[in-house]
Amino acid sequence: MRLQLGGMAVEAHSVGGVETCFQLPDFGLCLDIGRCPEGAISQDRLLLTHAHIDHAAGLPYYVSMRSMRHQSPPDIYCPAASHPTLARLLETWADLQADTLHCRLVPVSPGDRIPLPNDAFARVFASPHRIETNGYTLFRRIRKLKEEHKGKDGTEIGRLARSGSAIHEVVERAELCFPGDTTIDVLDADPAVTTARVLMLECTFLGSEKDPEEARQGGHVHLDHIATHAERFQNEHILLTHFSKRYSAREIRTEVARRLPPALLERVELLIHEP
Ligand SMILES: [Zn+2]
Repeated sequence: MRLQLGGMAVEAHSVGGVETCFQLPDFGLCLDIGRCPEGAISQDRLLLTHAHIDHAAGLPYYVSMRSMRHQSPPDIYCPAASHPTLARLLETWADLQADTLHCRLVPVSPGDRIPLPNDAFARVFASPHRIETNGYTLFRRIRKLKEEHKGKDGTEIGRLARSGSAIHEVVERAELCFPGDTTIDVLDADPAVTTARVLMLECTFLGSEKDPEEARQGGHVHLDHIATHAERFQNEHILLTHFSKRYSAREIRTEVARRLPPALLERVELLIHEP
């Protein structure tokens, strides 16, 4: 499904336990690869949050198809703990004559920075889930007027610029944060989770049928957790994703509207794949 989030194009596939892959052509990357949906092979790099099969099954296919189409070897970033096994997986497919070694598989850990085109970068943080999981925040470096010059009129700013003073500074702006599969404890995992312009947050469960604490123990977010912490989200746009396929589109919409306070609801979008 094609979305526009905060001015960024996102081709989104995410159904809990089935497939998760977000393509972000503005950054030339995929966040998770799911079953390698249409279009994903056009992105030159892949940031894997974790190695669960609904997020990573398409990995060998992605590498091999890019090679077959004479595209550059992709850069693939994954949690350090799953790197040896994923490398072995690609070697195993290579034994079966797939061109799966035509890539650079790089282990990354919390705090690492991944360079991206156009002076952008991704920063890695640890996301709480059942296995080692990396969350990623995508940053852009932008030029903005220095604090001390705010409120000055154009003529004065022009004069200052001509006199050689530095009127701008470069700041790193968190554009989009994706924790992958996670629990509500992710709100304390990294400041970017609640402050990035766009947050793509999993919300696997909702309603009274699933106990929120049980969801948390299983490594996932329940809608009730988001409602409880509604005031913490400072993000301009929040995409709720990864709903379990047990819920109908109508159930999701009704329950989200019922549970979230208006101040949060007006910034929330839902990733719902209608049948
Ligand atoms: Zn998972």
